[in-house]
Formats: sequence, structure tokens, C-alpha cells
Amino acid sequence: MKRIILTLLLLALMPMYAYAGQKTEEKVYFIDVGQADCTLIESNGLYMLIDSGEEEDGETVKKYLRDRGVDRLTYVIATHPHEDHIGGMDDVIDSFQTDNVIMPKVSAATYCFENMANAIIKSKAKVIEPVVGASYSLGDFTFTVLGPKEYDTEEMNNNSVAIKLVNKNDSFIFTGDAEAQEENDIINSGIDISADVLRVGHHGSKSSTSDAFLNKVAPKYAVISVGKDNAYDHPADTTVEKLNNKKIKIYRTDIHNTITAVSTGNGITFTQSSDGGGARQSSEAVGSGTKTVQTFILNKHSMKFHKDTCIYGKKTSPENKLIYTGYSDTVKSFGYTPCKVCDP
Ligand SMILES: [Zn+2]
Ligand SMILES: [Zn+2]
Repeated sequence: MKRIILTLLLLALMPMYAYAGQKTEEKVYFIDVGQADCTLIESNGLYMLIDSGEEEDGETVKKYLRDRGVDRLTYVIATHPHEDHIGGMDDVIDSFQTDNVIMPKVSAATYCFENMANAIIKSKAKVIEPVVGASYSLGDFTFTVLGPKEYDTEEMNNNSVAIKLVNKNDSFIFTGDAEAQEENDIINSGIDISADVLRVGHHGSKSSTSDAFLNKVAPKYAVISVGKDNAYDHPADTTVEKLNNKKIKIYRTDIHNTITAVSTGNGITFTQSSDGGGARQSSEAVGSGTKTVQTFILNKHSMKFHKDTCIYGKKTSPENKLIYTGYSDTVKSFGYTPCKVCDP
């Protein structure tokens, strides 16, 4: 009899165990796309992508998403129309069913913006203009729009879509490339912006992460998306110093490659991966044909260079494009890093 009762008890408990075992963990992947930005957010099989890296990161981002089993993006946020944020958007939106695109109501006269706009039109995704305070859900996550409050005609970075992402007691802040001015508007919105993780604005540039903003967010962790030895000297020493002074643990894509934050709703743990996926190879990758004279396409904005046959080189916006004929090593000495797709 005792045995029967025990068996019944076990049977009754089993579904609970099974349920507990299936409890999903919410994940935020800060994908290493060099001097650019790209974050994938996952909850209960639903996905959101914030930015897409540069043009030439399109393939890397697509592969990373496919490796994780993504076939549909519930939300895509295109923070602002700079190439290092939306360059890969056309590739992504063309390849994954995209339900909603949240983007500021500003445009840029660039190829990459035009390519993204065309991809969105083709995809039939719903375009949502950010409204401060509006909230959306993605599985166990909810996110609230923090900015932009109004559009800045002088500084495109201040038009960045900023959000606070929450899973029960865990929270993250993303501000794109928002500078101090937009950070101020966010503080003045009165929305609670305290968070565990700050995705540091504008790749750690000194024009972002104002003292007032950092004090309000008061994060435990900071994530900086930057390329190794980038031409902009990001992150700024002053930003790193500020974070260090507050004993905030810093993760950087140039040091840790792709960084994954796992949120249980009651604590966040970080793993840094060099497991490939999206991890970009070091720009010191051995180039072939460094000793032959070739024609290269140089991108003044991303500071990347390509063979003149590279599709990513061809997609470079005319205003950023330079043509150079000579040795690959010479182009590198100008401070340009080789495209990892065409390996010039
Ligand atoms: Zn920007
Ligand atoms: Zn940027």
C-alpha cells in the first residue's frame, strides 16, 4: 500500500518536475560584429534583433541566427540609420520572416538606408515609430521605449531608439548611439531606468554615458560593442574609467567576442564565447596576395577595405567610398582593416 501511495505521489509530482526542467532561460546575445552593433534577444522561442552590424556583417549575423535556430524575428529594432547599425539589415530582413520593425522616423540618403527600406517594404513587416513609454512583450521579456523623445536634425545618434528590457527582476538598457542629449531626455521622461546591464551607448564614446545617466541606470554590468584597434579609439578612456570607478564589470566584444547574458528573472550570468557563431575573426587574419598590386574599395566610414570584386565593397555608399590601387599592406597601414569575407 505504502508503495502504491509513493508511486502515485511520484506520478503526481512528475509533471511538475518536467515543467521545471523545461523552464526556459531568457538570453541576450551581444554578437561580435567588430566596430558595429548587433544584439539578439531570445525568450520562449521568440526573437528580437537590435541592429545588424555593417553591410559586410550581414552574412555573419544571418549565420549566427541560423545556428541558433531562428527562423522568424518578432521584432527588429533599427536604432538609427548609421551603417554600423543598419548595414546588414537588408540581408537579415530578406532572410528571416520579420513581423515588426521599430525605427525612428528619420531617413538617410545612403545606400544602406535605401537597401533596408526596400527590404522592409518587400517583407511586409509592420513599421512601428517609437513612442516613449510604449511597451511590448517578447515571451517572458517586456520592453519599454525610452527614446527618442524628439528628433535631432543635427546629430543622428540622438535619434536612436532606446529601450529598457525586463525579465522579472532582471533588466537591461539599450540606447544605440544616443549621446548625452538623448540620455538627458531619457532621464527627464521619469521612467525608471535603473538596470542590471547597460549596453554602453555609442561604443563607449565620450559623448555618451554622461555621469547623470550612469548614476540613474546604476548597472552592475556594462557591455561595450567595439572593434579591436578601431579608428575611433572607442571606448574612450574616460568612459572605461567611469565604469571602473563604480566597480561595474565590463564586457567588450573586442576582448570577449560574442557575449551571452542569461537571465533567470532573478539574476544574470554572462558567458563569453569564442565559439564562433558570430564571433568575428581578428582583423589580423592572414591576408592572401598581400604582395600583389590590386584595386581595393575603401570605406571611409567603417574603415574596412575590400577587393574591388567583393559584393560588400560594391555596396559601399558613394559618399564613403574610396578606390585605391596598390598593396594590401599599404591600405592596412592607412588604418583600414580587411573585410573578412573577401580577405583582400
Ligand atoms: Zn551612429
Ligand atoms: Zn554606432
